[in-house]
Amino acid sequence: MIVAKFGGTSVGDAAAIDRAARIVSERVPRQPLVVVSALGGATNALIAIAEQAASGQVILAMRGVEALRERHLQVASDLLGDDQDATDVAAEVAATFDELAALAEALFVLGHATPRSVDAIAAKGELVSSALVVAAFRKRGVPAVYVSPMDVMITGDQFGKAEPRTDRIAERASAVIRPLLAQGSVPVVGGFVGATEQGIITTLGRGGSDFSASLLGAALGAESIEIWTDVDGMLTADPRIVPDARLIERIRFDEASELASFGAKVLHPSTIAPAVRLGIPVSILNAKDPAGHGTLIAFDAPRRPVTAIAGKEGVTVVKVRSLRMLLAHGFLARIFEIFDRHRTSVDVVATSEISVSLTIDDARHLDTLMVDLLQLGDVSVERNRGIVALVGAGLGADSDAMARALAAMHGMRIHMLSLSASGINLTMLVDADQVAPAMRQLHAAFFPPGGDS
Ligand code: ADP
Ligand code: ASP
Ligand code: MG
Repeated sequence: MIVAKFGGTSVGDAAAIDRAARIVSERVPRQPLVVVSALGGATNALIAIAEQAASGQVILAMRGVEALRERHLQVASDLLGDDQDATDVAAEVAATFDELAALAEALFVLGHATPRSVDAIAAKGELVSSALVVAAFRKRGVPAVYVSPMDVMITGDQFGKAEPRTDRIAERASAVIRPLLAQGSVPVVGGFVGATEQGIITTLGRGGSDFSASLLGAALGAESIEIWTDVDGMLTADPRIVPDARLIERIRFDEASELASFGAKVLHPSTIAPAVRLGIPVSILNAKDPAGHGTLIAFDAPRRPVTAIAGKEGVTVVKVRSLRMLLAHGFLARIFEIFDRHRTSVDVVATSEISVSLTIDDARHLDTLMVDLLQLGDVSVERNRGIVALVGAGLGADSDAMARALAAMHGMRIHMLSLSASGINLTMLVDADQVAPAMRQLHAAFFPPGGDS
């Protein structure tokens, strides 16, 4: 079997869902499991509704609910016309948005939103898009069957970014999805959404439908995982920042993983791990150009000093300085134990004899983290930083590449510099507003127009 995941823009309107149906119908002999995102932009709208309701802006929130209801009903009618399926789907859309309105009302009355209630709201996008997709696929001759993500995607209760229970997911996928594949049906499941053992809705974190696809692909031993999106594949940089970015036809798992972690949004950072464990190739493909080459992520790929450049803003730096650290063993262990206790993951680390600098993306637990870190020494925090990352399997071995990278950064302040232990990722910490210009300068240096890199 294979997994085909369609992102928000690939199911964003009736024409996009139509294209997805054609792509899937060609794959029916390969036993596809289809994973779908919410309609493009729907998750942002849902989260805004939760925030507005909880902060007293109930009229705005209700307007948001009605706009989403209209949009989904329009897509349903464009796709299905007015046959019986259309009536059933319209009833389902209505029920979903009635419940959403009730949830928003509840948050307004409470004047407060918890991560658990935000998940219940955010999940609506995938729950309703998958129902729409099933009806549209059936009308186009694809034997689609709806599968609730809450029946298969079992997670812990870390609302907002729940941890999947892979053993339980494998059991549930075997029980629920395998029989459907065996009978020739095409199961369709909403990505991003999961549930605890007790059946409480969770989500896997923003962009998490890619992760759903790879978790289910690993659970079912898929032959391949296809990520259908709105660009030609993984490119040498984000094309929204570097318009002349080029397609990477083949990339190593570890390179793709580093790029995803450092801002290449085309892939959720957790997507690679389940696939790599079982050696399942992951392809990134353009749903608007299904005949295109796309990017294949696999164990082997050409070894290049620089394969691609990624960048992200919103990075916070924590610096811990302690004279007691001088020659003290176990100091780093104590620092990391504190980050672990506060469930905050660290991206980049640089040390000197008496200080350690660490970067984090998620500063939600920073206040409590600081209380513990202050026991170890002086602590300072710098917000509003960004990271640019040069990723390539041949980077560590290429002295010229390092020199070119630093030359390309001429005139920009680098706050921290780190070459990953595996030698495939050179990360530079810069001011947040320097991330885009730095990416463009680095891209021009390594991928000059008309050049070979
Ligand atoms: P989907 O809804 O299909 O999951 P996303 O918006 O999450 O799509 O991801 C696709 C977007 O990722 C692209 O439109 C592109 O702007 C962005 N992106 C960032 N870095 C890269 C990269 N290196 N290669 C391709 N796309 C990238
Ligand atoms: N719809 C979710 C989001 O926007 C998940 C996804 O698209 O992957 O974050
Ligand atoms: Mg995505």
